[in-house]
Amino acid sequence: FLYSREARAQDTVVKAGPARIGGAGFAVIAGPCSVESKEQLVETAEKVSQAGAHVLRGGAYKPRTSPYSFQGMEEEGLKLLALAREATGLPVVTELMDADELPLLEDYVDIIQIGARNVQNFSLLKKVGKINKPVLLKRGLMTKLDEFLLSAEYILAGGNDQVILCERGIRTFETATRNTLDLSAVCVLKERSHLPVIVDPSHATGHWRFVEPLARAVLAVGADGLMVEVHCHPEQALCDGSQSLTPEMFSHLMGELNAMPSFR
Ligand code: PEP
Ligand code: MN
Repeated sequence: FLYSREARAQDTVVKAGPARIGGAGFAVIAGPCSVESKEQLVETAEKVSQAGAHVLRGGAYKPRTSPYSFQGMEEEGLKLLALAREATGLPVVTELMDADELPLLEDYVDIIQIGARNVQNFSLLKKVGKINKPVLLKRGLMTKLDEFLLSAEYILAGGNDQVILCERGIRTFETATRNTLDLSAVCVLKERSHLPVIVDPSHATGHWRFVEPLARAVLAVGADGLMVEVHCHPEQALCDGSQSLTPEMFSHLMGELNAMPSFR
């Protein structure tokens, strides 16, 4: 398999603007769950940039459980992401939900995210296998690691070798947290694949209080990076406020990570 260590000895380093994910450093992706307004996005982008984030995240097309929940700003949101990149210099990542929107995302953003719910949308995976942009592939709610790696293989097999794997929690019997963070996935994926592995403790836990301690664990276990949700006013967030850090908490988290001996 193209994802395997046998196929490639060195770690893959994914490049997006000035950011590098995989290899020597530890990359931090931060930003709101959803793009909500120009003010919201630019303010958050500036604050996470000042705190040391390497990539800005923000959803413009949101995979919501209820059709009556906020669905995202769509193309307007993509334009705001491009604006926030201009304001901060941070490369941006956003989720692709429908192949029809792929040309638009290719124009506006630096990294294309395939969300947990589309991890086995094989036709979508084939399409992003043909593009010349990095893909951030999230593990599904019920995806075994064998299956997750084969989803990555779909993208690699199309000729796109810029794939980032993201553990974001899986569904188990435990309901105290939104999902159960599978930290052992990092060890297994790093052993079996040269692709960069990052972890999203925000969606894994659903609670802002658990994000910092688990982020420290993510660095300690040897992941290549982190994806964290940050909102200036979490109580007003249109999506995932309960798991969002304020910029101040995010800045504290970055300080904690920097102080760890394994920080690189
Ligand atoms: C997200 O990152 O905004 C998201 C919807 O995550 P997931 O696909 O992991 O649920
Ligand atoms: Mn979210």
